[in-house]
Amino acid sequence: MERVNPDFSEKIKKFGAFDINACYNCGTCTAICPLSTEDNSFPRKMVRATVLGLENKIASSLDPWLCYYCGECSDTCPRDADPGGLMMALRRYQIRKFSVGRISDLFYQGFSSLWAWFVLTLLGVLGIFILKNNPDMKEIKPLSFVSLNVLHDGGIILFIFLLIFSFIQLLLILKSIKLTKKNGIGMKYYLKSFLEVFFKEVLAQKKFSECEDKKRYTAHLLLLWGFLGLFLATITVMLFDFFLPSNEGIRTIPKFLGLMSGIPALYGVLFFLWIRLKKVDKYSKFTHHTDWIFIVLIFLAILSGYTLDILRWSSAVKIYYFTFAFHLVVVFELILTFPFTKFAHVMYRPFALLLADIRK
Ligand code: SF4
Ligand code: SF4
Repeated sequence: MERVNPDFSEKIKKFGAFDINACYNCGTCTAICPLSTEDNSFPRKMVRATVLGLENKIASSLDPWLCYYCGECSDTCPRDADPGGLMMALRRYQIRKFSVGRISDLFYQGFSSLWAWFVLTLLGVLGIFILKNNPDMKEIKPLSFVSLNVLHDGGIILFIFLLIFSFIQLLLILKSIKLTKKNGIGMKYYLKSFLEVFFKEVLAQKKFSECEDKKRYTAHLLLLWGFLGLFLATITVMLFDFFLPSNEGIRTIPKFLGLMSGIPALYGVLFFLWIRLKKVDKYSKFTHHTDWIFIVLIFLAILSGYTLDILRWSSAVKIYYFTFAFHLVVVFELILTFPFTKFAHVMYRPFALLLADIRK
């Protein structure tokens, strides 16, 4: 049996759950939360576990990832304990907890995290500088200073890095939640579960759609679709470059997809920037610095991508070079930090939904 640890709620305050000790266990949050079921008092179970300091119970729970932060529980809490804010804080706590070698600590330590971002930026700039001055590069295109081959190789290395670390971290979660294997559940069931979660919860975000605030849901959905479109467009361009390098025309299709996908992604990211800046409601009153960095990086990546497309047709070569270098550094930072920062919710949430479905 786990022992009560009153210091835990202090620890979780660093992740943004400032008011949770005010909870007097009335259950209003459970009554309002669309995720609550008869056998899962959502989010009160996590609130109690935090107040009592049951760290193992929290670390091995999928609940923080099932919450969409609609904020309805926080709006109705009579004690202003902000249970929705707690779920968000627990997600940050879990990202840190399951990070390989505690790499996430580098990005979650307040002001000193800025050093980590500074070093990453420096590495990116240094990489660009080395590539720019590499005398071996023969394939320099009129409006590019980095060889496509070098870019592709770099992209593949980063992608492999991301896959390895993401995979290990998902295994760590799997180990911690101790799924019991039941007889009679075959591959067919897992596949069905996977497809259901992918279409209903990832692509349509059905549970999120049950929250009252449709603006947040729409913005999140558009950001996701836009992001998926941009990802698909980038991969397709890379594949065409690799297998059909002489067929310039064929790249028009993914480029058009990229251009179109940027619009919903930009809307979503601007919406979240705006509500966080304006603090329009209770659940945007506090933004952890890791959330700021993530959302600003996404915004800069989309904005610099669009600027590149505009500059491509102009004669402002130097500005194009600078914007391209800037874009590469931002994308490099986003990909490299994917498993260790807020970005990791893109893999943790669908994984948690899948495990919850299997468990059910
Ligand atoms: S509504 Fe507030 S006070 Fe009541 S159980 Fe939930 S967090 Fe605690
Ligand atoms: S923020 Fe919304 S989904 Fe999350 S626990 Fe509160 S009511 Fe439930």
